[in-house]
Amino acid sequence: MQRILRKLALLTIIFLITFTLVASNGIAHHQTVIQTAQFNNCLNNAQCLVTPEPTTSPTPIAPFTPNPELNEQQRFLSAIAIKLPAIPQPGTYEYILLRKYGAVFVNQEPEIKLPEKVILANEQETQEFQSTLTMIKVDGTNDCYLQQAAGLALNKAKKIQKIPLKSGYGSGDCTRTFTTNLRFWQKYANDRTLEKVRQGKETAILGIVAPPGTSQHLWGLAIDLRVSSQKQRQALNQNGWFQTVESDIPHWTYLGLTESQLPLFGFQKKLVREITYWVTPI
Ligand SMILES: [Zn+2]
Repeated sequence: MQRILRKLALLTIIFLITFTLVASNGIAHHQTVIQTAQFNNCLNNAQCLVTPEPTTSPTPIAPFTPNPELNEQQRFLSAIAIKLPAIPQPGTYEYILLRKYGAVFVNQEPEIKLPEKVILANEQETQEFQSTLTMIKVDGTNDCYLQQAAGLALNKAKKIQKIPLKSGYGSGDCTRTFTTNLRFWQKYANDRTLEKVRQGKETAILGIVAPPGTSQHLWGLAIDLRVSSQKQRQALNQNGWFQTVESDIPHWTYLGLTESQLPLFGFQKKLVREITYWVTPI
């Protein structure tokens, strides 16, 4: 009788183990099917590729650091690939813009938002992007707004040194609308200029004014300042603000990196008329 009972117990255990294995296999298979279906759905739906469902926290565990064994250009491109999903191809208008204004794409702070392309097509697209930003007011101004991390860093610099806006207090020095960007462009240039820029035949204008939809000011990460002393420059540099657009003297860009990190991210130091610019290596 005892032997029969032991056999029965053994059979029950074997049955339970087998059942558990089959069941868990079934669940795993079921999950794979759902994931494949979701993936196929994504392929057929462009929007899904643009905004994939977050499966993990968007905050990176450790900030990205370029591989020092790569050359300058590769280091820069590897860094911007994190925030810019489609890197423009050399020889295109977008590549010219990336070279001139793309410095901000190296920004490592997870709360800093950037558009997924270097040109915002119109006011609607600009507003859609800007509506996703968390903005704060720059201290001592009426209506000068920047993305929060950039604004906080600038306010820190302003506590060390007095740094006025180029115009005194105006919002035009800070985050701009598409229309303001367009108005500034039309002040200095026209459609013929734009055509020449597109063809790579005209670049000087890019240091004066940005073509429609391409200004760093649209992204809430640039500001025009009246800087005259080395101490002001130091205060800005110590807080992640640098001059990245050659010849645009009042224009400052928030990179959120320290000066010593810039060469590792591929930036080239360029001294023009006693002003240090950190330009992209592309
Ligand atoms: Zn500017």
